[in-house]
Amino acid sequence: LGGRITRAIQQMSSAIVIDEKALNECLNEITRALLQSDVSFRLVKELQTNIKKIVNLDDLAAGHNKRRIIEQAIFSELCKMLDPGKPAFTPKKAKTSVVMFVGLQGAGKTTTCTKYAYYHQKKGYKPALVCADTFRAGAFDQLKQNATKAKIPFYGSYTESDPVKIAVEGVARFKKENCDLIIVDTSGRHKQEDSLFEEMRQLAEATKPDVVIFVMDSSIGQAAFDQAQAFKQSVAVGAVIITKMDGHAKGGGALSAVAATKSPVILIGTGEHMDEFEVFDVKPFVSRLLGKGDWSGFVDKLQEVVPKDQQSEYLEQLSKGNISLRIMYEQYQSMLNFGPLKQLYSSLPGMGAGMMPEGREKESEAKIKRYMTIMDSMTDEELDSPNPKVFDETRMMRIARGSGRIVREVKEMLEEYKKLAKSLSNMKGLKIPRNGDLMSS
Ligand code: GDP
Ligand code: MG
Repeated sequence: LGGRITRAIQQMSSAIVIDEKALNECLNEITRALLQSDVSFRLVKELQTNIKKIVNLDDLAAGHNKRRIIEQAIFSELCKMLDPGKPAFTPKKAKTSVVMFVGLQGAGKTTTCTKYAYYHQKKGYKPALVCADTFRAGAFDQLKQNATKAKIPFYGSYTESDPVKIAVEGVARFKKENCDLIIVDTSGRHKQEDSLFEEMRQLAEATKPDVVIFVMDSSIGQAAFDQAQAFKQSVAVGAVIITKMDGHAKGGGALSAVAATKSPVILIGTGEHMDEFEVFDVKPFVSRLLGKGDWSGFVDKLQEVVPKDQQSEYLEQLSKGNISLRIMYEQYQSMLNFGPLKQLYSSLPGMGAGMMPEGREKESEAKIKRYMTIMDSMTDEELDSPNPKVFDETRMMRIARGSGRIVREVKEMLEEYKKLAKSLSNMKGLKIPRNGDLMSS
């Protein structure tokens, strides 16, 4: 998507006369690209209208950096669409919050309930899970298994068929046990059916949730808006979680879900395991949707913190895409050593959001140090290979043993490396033109 949008803008800015027609052609191409990324038709139209309001053709003709103006307009409009203007719900530790998950069958509710509970447990909450899904066979077993793995108390029944009764009992039990975050998992149906919505209404009325979280599979494409709206119309949805972003989905559905529910996205699911999720953050998400990192911020900061004569070399290394593990090692070292570089990396896609999340620097630092210890046990050949092949089990075991860590941690580090290499490959073509201004191409 990013490539296509960039090309469209490039084409326009190379036109001899930038007139209404050239801008329209550019916007039409962008429209097509966004539609292909599952951004809903009505939102794309809205975006197009807004961009035309922002982008003043007279300004464009006056020799301003047209590409930058249009790119920024697209970026900021997409960000606006993902921000419903109300803060995400945060449970309070001193009091009991009830959170109800809703969504179609297979959307990822049960999996995500556990992720949500696990995330808050790590933050010091006392979560509990209630299985109010009596529709799907094996639903309780699935929740029980997940909860046990995460060491989270759970409640459910094999025999009771009334979901409302189970939910009420479960919530009452955990309130008595002083849990501060009671999560009610509900059933879904394959389709949006009246019976499902009726059940959700009854459950909400009986358990009085502090927030209802709508869980949506990111791969449903253009159906996102209607689905989210259907749920919003029957229960007071207050937050959204988008799942399966590790798959082929392009993420445009998130914009639809926000627009239809007027609620913020709080998490995105990136895998089947309980630690495979990301706390949602608008700007990196839009960057990803556009297929690139948050350039503008990164480039500005690079100019601030890297000496001018080194900037070019620095960018070249980063933009090669297939970087060696040693470069990652050196980057980690800089992250730990230099204050300002921390900021630089926090704006670098792939490094930033995951490695140095705000307020969790200590944790991130420990992680970085662990990865560095692991890399200390690698051979030069392993570290310097420009594109390290997947390591086999024996190699990983040797590295784990050498560093006093376990194989899972070695794998985790290599995953982090792969993520970094992937996000850097999106930066290919980052150049410093002769006049010294950094820009992306
Ligand atoms: P529910 O019917 O809404 O409760 O959905 P489940 O939680 O049972 O999930 C349905 C399927 O999707 C399961 O196989 C999950 O492992 C899988 N799943 C859920 N979230 C994710 C995700 O973020 N990524 C991937 N790859 N799979 C997921
Ligand atoms: Mg389920």
